[in-house]
Amino acid sequence: MDQVRTKKVGNRNNYKYFDVVVIGGGPAGSTTANELVKSGLSVLLLDKAGRIKPCGGAIPPKAIEEFEIPDELLVAKINKAQIVSPTKNKVDIPIENGFVGMVDRDHFDEWLRERAQKNGAIRKIGSFNFISRNRSENKILVHYTARNSVSDTKSFPECVLTSYVVGADGANSEVAKQEIKNSSLKKLVFAYHEIIQRPEEVSDNYEPTRCDVIYSSSYSPDFYSWVFPHGDTFSIGTGSAKKEFSFKGAISSLKEKHQLNSCKVIRREGAPIPLKPLKRWDNGSDTILVGDAAGVVAPSSGEGIYYAMLSGKLAAKALVKCVLEKNPEYLREPRKNFLKLHGKVFFILGLLQSFWYRNDHLRERFVKICEDKDVQYLTFESYMRKEIVKRKRKEKLKIFFKDLAHLFGVAKV
Ligand SMILES: Cc1cc2nc3c(=O)[nH]c(=O)nc-3n(C[C@H](O)[C@H](O)[C@H](O)COP(=O)(O)OP(=O)(O)OC[C@H]3O[C@@H](n4cnc5c(N)ncnc54)[C@H](O)[C@@H]3O)c2cc1C
Repeated sequence: MDQVRTKKVGNRNNYKYFDVVVIGGGPAGSTTANELVKSGLSVLLLDKAGRIKPCGGAIPPKAIEEFEIPDELLVAKINKAQIVSPTKNKVDIPIENGFVGMVDRDHFDEWLRERAQKNGAIRKIGSFNFISRNRSENKILVHYTARNSVSDTKSFPECVLTSYVVGADGANSEVAKQEIKNSSLKKLVFAYHEIIQRPEEVSDNYEPTRCDVIYSSSYSPDFYSWVFPHGDTFSIGTGSAKKEFSFKGAISSLKEKHQLNSCKVIRREGAPIPLKPLKRWDNGSDTILVGDAAGVVAPSSGEGIYYAMLSGKLAAKALVKCVLEKNPEYLREPRKNFLKLHGKVFFILGLLQSFWYRNDHLRERFVKICEDKDVQYLTFESYMRKEIVKRKRKEKLKIFFKDLAHLFGVAKV
């Protein structure tokens, strides 16, 4: 691990100075740090470390291309999705024009942090405590508890001086709690999964290049459940906004149903997933949130890796202007630009989740809609490329009327 030293870094009033301190080294924080150092700013990347982020690890081609994710980080390449309804109607959706990449978060996150470090960021293992301000100098002090290595049990207080702080410390962000008004995440699901040794035999219950998405109140009353292959292992998980729901019980039943209960369990873990971007990402003067801390995860799917990285990239772009022009007004831009790009999709996905995920009757109809080739094309291309697919007006109307037919039960289920 780097010591707090570099030629770019100043030393003011006995504190090391960095243009920006990024708190949290997940996809959002590492991407922010990487983009900032590439633009010539001095950056401290502070991460708690020691815990693998619970995650299904699915990333679309857009993420792989835009953020130059190397092939060796992909532990599986998915070419089919299987959507399963409450009555076990199974819809296979081939993934055309590419594949969905699967990453193991321990290797993926560490690779992202290392890339930022290689490009010039200074890394520190430590847990953020609080910020104090020197109003006369317009500089802030970031206080944290540091450790020399992940395995080191000894910790010590440290503090650095900076102009800007990025809160990339996840859904339970301490930076958000302390620095941004009204930052409690209003819409959340809790997600739990188990990482399991893959079965030796391929069967209808498990294919190493197929992601299964299961809609049934038996395994989730208000979200969905999944089986995502990861090479030698797989993630089997579920989500729900209802804290009292028996997540472990649901996964135990799902494993039994998929005849996967004899496979060895490697890890059991869970975490909240925010499903609505916060109204404010910044405090107007020196702090901005990115990734889960800012609530940027897609409703309906819970997809957050790409959006975390994108929010980090947009924040870095704004911070470079803030530092160079000594003007914090640019802190407003990332949220605005993010919503310009993805606000419409988040809105539609939010409506979709609150309508179709309400009960098994509606879920059954929702899966039926997924049988439609036009719907498959539209949804998957939008996921893969992160653009709303431009289709002819006539075709869009056709899909719209088909959806209405399913909605009102006119179409056959
Ligand atoms: C079970 C589950 C399955 C999921 N599956 C998928 C999926 O398949 N595909 C997908 O795209 N998304 C998925 N997501 C969502 C995705 O994991 C998140 O949206 C994404 O990790 C957000 O990245 P982030 O960098 O904002 O936050 P995180 O990945 O949570 O990273 C936060 C970082 O901050 C650090 N940190 C926290 N507190 C402090 C502190 N006080 N001081 C210093 N450092 C701190 C942590 O160590 C961590 O490294 C899933 C989420 C869950 C819970």
